[in-house]
Amino acid sequence: MTTTNLDSTLAAIEEALPIDSRPHTIGDRPTGLIIVDVINGFCTVGFGPLAPSEPDQQISTMVAESERLARIFVAKDCPILLFLDTHEPGKLEPPYPPHCEQGTREEKLVAELEWLENHPQATLITKDCINGFIGSIDINSQDNLFLNWVNRHQLETLIVVGICTDICVMDFVVTLLSVRNHSLLPSLKDVIVYDKGCATFNLTAEMAAAQGLPKTAIHPQKITHHLGLYTMAERGALIASEINFHTHNFSNKQLENRYHKERH
Ligand SMILES: [Zn+2]
Repeated sequence: MTTTNLDSTLAAIEEALPIDSRPHTIGDRPTGLIIVDVINGFCTVGFGPLAPSEPDQQISTMVAESERLARIFVAKDCPILLFLDTHEPGKLEPPYPPHCEQGTREEKLVAELEWLENHPQATLITKDCINGFIGSIDINSQDNLFLNWVNRHQLETLIVVGICTDICVMDFVVTLLSVRNHSLLPSLKDVIVYDKGCATFNLTAEMAAAQGLPKTAIHPQKITHHLGLYTMAERGALIASEINFHTHNFSNKQLENRYHKERH
């Protein structure tokens, strides 16, 4: 399919399956930030078979927005949870080729988020499957590290960003909504997915054929990103076009100034 055809297909899908994204303002409710798989193996050019092979605008924006929100959450004293796709060397995760194996640095946070690795406000959870909720279950104790984190902080709102919109982000968010409705997280009210804080990969028909992959591997980035957002919205997540902050402690201006000061 040509780029023009893909663009008109996207426009038709956006009209048929609208996501109705709106700006979201974080107020005084306890709010946590969840960053899904913003690691080298999915985001840094040339870092393994599932990383972009060349600079990618959607992924770069997602990384920048994840960092921006993380800096503000830290300034606001709000907790951050990061999922990191991590595999034992040689242990496959079908249908994917080996990726993010321990010791390759593919499983490490991207350079922009490295400062969170040992940060007291950040909780890092490694997972060896798509779904972060499942990956949070400790095989031996059956404890769920993610559930413990939300309950410990009594979070009422969760903001979710990361990659891939239609895979690891979507499976986690869809599960999370069932978990909330099943009352496993009594404090949780809203699950917000930030549009520009999410990204997915691009795999054209030509790329799939050249790599000997089946037709189901074809993955047009903008369409699959939209379908991921649509599915999450359909199940009850709120899709945010932007994230704003409103607290008694800081004005937006003060937070932005603090953010810029820390960056430069
Ligand atoms: Zn994986």
